[in-house]
Amino acid sequence: MSRIEPLAARAGSRPDPASGALSPPLQLATTFEHTPDGQLPQGFLYQRYDNPTQQETEQVLAALEGAKRALLFPTGMAAGATALQALPPGSHVLLCDDSYFTFRVLAAQQFPRWGLECTIVDFTDLDAVRAALRPNTALLWAESPSNPLLKVSDIAALADIAHEAGARLLVDSTFAPAVIQQPLALGADIVLHSATKYLGGHGDVMGGVLAFADDGEHAAACHQLRLMAGATASPFAAWLILRGVRSLPARMDWHCRNARRVAEFLAGHAKVSAVHYPGLASHPQHAVAAAQMRDFGGMLSFEVAGGREAALAVASRMRLFTNATSLGSTESLVEHRASIEGPASTTPGGLLRLSVGLEHADDLVADLEQALAGG
Ligand SMILES: *Cc1c(COP(=O)(O)O)cnc(C)c1O
Repeated sequence: MSRIEPLAARAGSRPDPASGALSPPLQLATTFEHTPDGQLPQGFLYQRYDNPTQQETEQVLAALEGAKRALLFPTGMAAGATALQALPPGSHVLLCDDSYFTFRVLAAQQFPRWGLECTIVDFTDLDAVRAALRPNTALLWAESPSNPLLKVSDIAALADIAHEAGARLLVDSTFAPAVIQQPLALGADIVLHSATKYLGGHGDVMGGVLAFADDGEHAAACHQLRLMAGATASPFAAWLILRGVRSLPARMDWHCRNARRVAEFLAGHAKVSAVHYPGLASHPQHAVAAAQMRDFGGMLSFEVAGGREAALAVASRMRLFTNATSLGSTESLVEHRASIEGPASTTPGGLLRLSVGLEHADDLVADLEQALAGG
């Protein structure tokens, strides 16, 4: 597998034939000249079908993942919904129990309309995964590390289970971009990213990615569905994601270092009853994480002794960490996930999720120290 750093640093960079520019052009055109009989001299017809900025970004994303093909979407949810809707009706999906909350809501609300069946399973229990397989199981949907409990799934083992059953494995790797985890190299068939998070990296663009190990029937069905349903990212969004990729390895390195410092501080704090960070030796799947990840990411969660009220009080005292949803931007965020997920949430009431940003680790630790000390 090629090195990620040079791929990222030079993403889209070559002297532009028209101007010599080293940064890629942003092509906003909705339509492209064709011959009277519909031949496409440059391969482009209409922005919703394909466009130069999207194509350039997809080629870079495919290279980062070691994928045959990558498709860009306007959001991570659009990417995920497309992967699911493109399954043959009557398919059964195994969804990991700590998958991004909105996918579980989507399964509950939309799967019956789409003719899909769903079973929610703990993917850290491989016997439970095997036991949940059905003859019509078409897709295993993993998320590793997961949101918000940072559970780690054994991607290679899940790929074997899926393939023996004639199913595919999709990994939502939003918390661990290609520079720290490459699910396709571990045997997964599809990688999903919310590009809104680390790929964009600056909290100012939304996007989603599906990257496929093979350019077969499912990839073609996803592509077709995107064209027809119009789930096309704007060229400007594609351009911002491409720009974000250029600094991805450097940003991830700093996110990971800051998160490790924060996790170690929290693990030693008397008012913290649990820290969920795969980089800690105490994490139940630390060994799997160490084997399949190059580093452990910038996301973690912890539980405040005293439960919901104590956690809300800590969140209200945080100064440097802002109370806001989302993750993967330069600034540090804190979120009481149970409040945001609502009554159907299965997240512990005392849990706070942190997106550790690019400030100085000493300041982040100091902020947590004062927030935990107060009250
Ligand atoms: C944010 C997120 C998504 C959804 O992505 P959007 O870009 O918000 O639609 C999916 N999976 C994970 C793990 C996420 O964090």
